[in-house]
Amino acid sequence: MERRRIMSEDQTRQFDTPGPESRRTTTEGILRLEYIPCPLCNSKDTTLVLTSKDNLCGIPGEFKVERCNNCQHRFMNPRPVLECLGDCYPDHYGPHQSAANVPVPSSAEISATAGQVDPVSAARPLYLRILPLRYIPGLKRFYNWLIDDRSQPVLFASALFPADAAGHDCATESPHRPRALEIGCATGEYLVRLQEAGWNATGIEPGVRPASIARDRGLDVYCGMLETCQLKTAAFDIAAAWMVVEHVPDPRDTLQRIHALLKPGGILLFSIPNAGCWEATFFGRNWFVLELPRHLHHFTPASIQTLLEQCGYADISITHQRNLSNVVGSVALVIFSRWPESRIGRWLFNYPHRPTFGMKLLLAPWAHLIAWIRQGGRLTISAHRIDRHGGPS
Ligand SMILES: [Zn+2]
Repeated sequence: MERRRIMSEDQTRQFDTPGPESRRTTTEGILRLEYIPCPLCNSKDTTLVLTSKDNLCGIPGEFKVERCNNCQHRFMNPRPVLECLGDCYPDHYGPHQSAANVPVPSSAEISATAGQVDPVSAARPLYLRILPLRYIPGLKRFYNWLIDDRSQPVLFASALFPADAAGHDCATESPHRPRALEIGCATGEYLVRLQEAGWNATGIEPGVRPASIARDRGLDVYCGMLETCQLKTAAFDIAAAWMVVEHVPDPRDTLQRIHALLKPGGILLFSIPNAGCWEATFFGRNWFVLELPRHLHHFTPASIQTLLEQCGYADISITHQRNLSNVVGSVALVIFSRWPESRIGRWLFNYPHRPTFGMKLLLAPWAHLIAWIRQGGRLTISAHRIDRHGGPS
């Protein structure tokens, strides 16, 4: 492991040089990178953790993860300059591809479902699509255990807001429905689930096509970035951001913006990869969710807890997901490093994006055990907004 204290005479790192080109490097003419101080504490004292290539999309170059010696935060350094961030997401990037593959509903389907949830979503579990299966005792519970329904929980509005002072049923009377926000909503699958759970749901999605599909489904979606949306502050009871925070250049700014959009006492739900678990250490540069150069931050439970507290959140709960997709994908990357044409490697590599029922069943006991000892590769986190001058409100 290489330890490098950043000194002013280090000509490879010039943090404060005003000319933009002088503080950027080029990786094979594709991405312009820049060295930055720690995004969380501004320290320039860092240690190189690992070097890796883009294992998912094949963007040329070698990319580095460093650890701040002051606050221990791990982050990509150098990282793409802001105007090049979009170039890190080619059209075949997994989440975008899955969004693009969602069939566009016909006009008849849109008119039949406008303003309401999609009743024939292909994403519905098997037991809901085949009527008799719904009534098998314990099947729903087993299914939810198998898919780990804690990883993207849907809070029921009626549980949080049974009725307002005037006696309105907040969960069913539309004008009185509590409000939920999802940052990075893609085609709106989670927004649909929020609506079903009684929320007045709004989404923010930077991708034009997924945002358009979500709108065609009758969902309220703003196409753009959190930084540019014109949403009213202190307007939302809950906010969600699934696998988003590790992608943003300034996670402190993102968490503070969400804090401002939440009502006092509002709840933030989000998920991130866990760089502090065994699989990240064991697989190193072949860790499936390393995803350089798109994952700019590699949080541990301790580092995300500290950041949330600094941003004004309290009652922080960190859940380790029962999910071994990272491990399967990482094994595929190890296989590819020796046998690039391996068909088994290809199948394992595709598994995290298209998990099969049999494999989930096979992995479930191990996934349960690893989550139980708090070594899960993905974390689901909930936190409450507090006002800086007081406790939870
Ligand atoms: Zn730091």
